[in-house]
Amino acid sequence: EEPLVTTSFLQEDASEGSLRPKSLKEYIGQEKAKENLSVFIEAARRRTESLDHVLLHGPPGLGKTTLAGIIAAEMGVNIRITSGPAIEKPGDLAALLTNLNENDILFVDEIHRLNRSVEEILYPAMEDFAIDIIVGKGPSANSIRLDLPKFTLIGATTRAGQLSAPLRDRFGVTLRLELYTPEELTQIVTRSAGILNVPIQPEGALEIARRSRGTPRIANRMLRRVRDFAEVRANGTITREVADLALSALEIDYLGLDPIDRRMLRAIMENYGGGPVGLETLAATIGEESITLEDVYEPYLMQLGFLTRTPRGRCVTQKAYQHLHVPIPGGAAP
Ligand code: ADP
Repeated sequence: EEPLVTTSFLQEDASEGSLRPKSLKEYIGQEKAKENLSVFIEAARRRTESLDHVLLHGPPGLGKTTLAGIIAAEMGVNIRITSGPAIEKPGDLAALLTNLNENDILFVDEIHRLNRSVEEILYPAMEDFAIDIIVGKGPSANSIRLDLPKFTLIGATTRAGQLSAPLRDRFGVTLRLELYTPEELTQIVTRSAGILNVPIQPEGALEIARRSRGTPRIANRMLRRVRDFAEVRANGTITREVADLALSALEIDYLGLDPIDRRMLRAIMENYGGGPVGLETLAATIGEESITLEDVYEPYLMQLGFLTRTPRGRCVTQKAYQHLHVPIPGGAAP
């Protein structure tokens, strides 16, 4: 069984396309980002200009790709979707850029993973809508400037801090996506259940929402697993009870923590006296990638107030001890 909390694309996510909201109105939550965007979009439309380059950042599964598609739809332009690691050579990027139409959007997921030589092509492309191409070899080599159509780059990253300063500076708009509230996730689960034709009670939707760690992609994955459970073990309707049984069987606790969250917290408690412990050391202790812990696990544990980051490393809080029923060292009363 694949873990629910993973950044890798799962087979079951293939149906994500059908669950994607297609307009800003259908896009639930992220009010601040939506409000800013609707102003930029409206202004660009009135001037019949391309939209400023947009940088979207936040943990995986929060709706960055979805939002890029919506921006394209609202602007009435085409979108080309690619990712940092997929653009290997400057020529790959040049080919993408020269094939765009006026005002089109180029969406680059994981833009912090672009390699250096590709990134350097992007600077003049973003700034002057032109690229410099070297023709010929040796002493007769020449650089010619090629004009590009005006386009909008939408970059997405889980880690804005890892973007080089020159790249970051070339985005006119930066939007940070936040973890969703259980109420917003309840709306998302209810909407998805409607599209998938799954009968669901409001308490069933809330139970999934509460356990999906602020992340729509995880909420949608849970919905599908709970649906299977409801069909096989119950009468097909997702109730609170069915959701609880299914998610408990998947070792997701009532706050949405999975076995890796618990291993991580316990390791800090049991091996490092509650912290601080450095991220790399912690990752090695529990046999996970440090990037996964930082991008996928920590944001939610910090939101719950179970984990803090200090300059000397990660620490667990009293709340985390209470949740895992581990005695607090020094015996402080809860
Ligand atoms: P990211 O690009 O940030 O990793 P995606 O845009 O791929 O995330 O979103 C993952 C899934 O979550 C989408 O298929 C979509 O169904 C759902 N989703 C994301 N944001 C929202 C939202 N605001 N409202 C409804 N569904 C959403």
